[in-house]
Amino acid sequence: MNSLFDPKYLTRNILIGMGLGAAVGTALNLTGATVAEPGILAGEVFPLIGDVFVRSLQLLVVPLVLLSLMCGTAALDDVRKLGRIGIKTVAFYIGTTAVAISIAITLAVVFRAGAGFDLNYEAEFAAKDSPGLRAVLTNIFPKNPFTAMAEGKMLQVIVFAILFGIAMCLAGEAGRRVLSIAQDLNEVVMKLVVVLLMAAPFGVFALVGKTFALEGFGAILALGQYFILVLAALLLHAFVTYGLVLKTFSGLSAGRFFKQMRRVQLFAFSTASSNATLPLSMENAERNLGVNRSIGSFTIPLGATINMDGTAIMQGVATVFIATALNIDLGIQDYLMVILTATLASIGTAGVPGVGLVMLAMVFSQVGLPVAAIGVIYGVDRLLDMARTAVNVTGDAVVSTIVAKSEGEFRQEVFDADEPQWEERK
Ligand code: ASP
Repeated sequence: MNSLFDPKYLTRNILIGMGLGAAVGTALNLTGATVAEPGILAGEVFPLIGDVFVRSLQLLVVPLVLLSLMCGTAALDDVRKLGRIGIKTVAFYIGTTAVAISIAITLAVVFRAGAGFDLNYEAEFAAKDSPGLRAVLTNIFPKNPFTAMAEGKMLQVIVFAILFGIAMCLAGEAGRRVLSIAQDLNEVVMKLVVVLLMAAPFGVFALVGKTFALEGFGAILALGQYFILVLAALLLHAFVTYGLVLKTFSGLSAGRFFKQMRRVQLFAFSTASSNATLPLSMENAERNLGVNRSIGSFTIPLGATINMDGTAIMQGVATVFIATALNIDLGIQDYLMVILTATLASIGTAGVPGVGLVMLAMVFSQVGLPVAAIGVIYGVDRLLDMARTAVNVTGDAVVSTIVAKSEGEFRQEVFDADEPQWEERK
């Protein structure tokens, strides 16, 4: 097979697409492309390719999550095991997010983010209404599975798939027949993931090209301190926290883990969407990390929806930055409030580009900061969005690996293999 379309070279090809996209995008930016006048490449061609690509991946999300999770639940064959896995997974997700945001706040306070920054926030940020906590929790439960699927409400799809999987287990012969059809369908959808992923290098090229062409680098310079602090906290969390958590709870090598995660991280970085990355994350968990499908089909989609450590980090730094720039003193209580709201706000929010800022509005209103001030950091958000999405998906994979290992649903030989185990099935 031509190496451009060979799954073996996917990581390399994505990396090349990304590098070329960054180079072409920067060249366009330097020759005058702006949001107002993007020109034909950055304004038409790149968005066309990029959007088609992201849509084709999003198309897979609902069928993939539904089928894998139904089959995964049925394969567990034990409701108690399911409950245990659920509790463990959610506890790790919430725990790592709380650590993430604490790191962010600490760094921002120590380096006095926003001190001396002349804040003028005429750039209005129109906050969308954020739902209350009760609505967030109620909305996890679907009223109608078809509406949930049609609207892509991931948590609702997850709940429905788990219930259906349990029922398949309990329904004897009929359940086994339905399960065997669902397993076949699942294989077909998985195949489609692999087929569509072959287009990834081109999609990534277009997405990165557009971003680099249109992002004002001037804006990054002006907000350099904020930008660097967010990046530093993201790197610290990604490599130190995750490395330590993985080693402590599973004994696995962090270096090997990051190697196995590269393609997913590059992909998340380029698309800035955990949701669009979901098919690849699931594929990767199974074939590169050695997480059995019965676990990965549950933990990865759940993580893509409720676990956003990178986003929480941005929110922590942003809160300190804006409060300090506005000379508003935040006390310990406020910081605890930020930790709590940012952690809860991520539940039920889909992993799509820019959603972190919407959730930030919720955090700001909780601690009494002017929501309009979010406009100030808006200009540099896209690049940070890319970086934090890479952290978001890494967090999902760390937790999945730990849970799989602790449940004996982990295959060391896949984790240790240099090549993805495309043909392996479990
Ligand atoms: N883009 C992020 C994600 O999809 C969410 C965000 O922080 O805006 O995970």
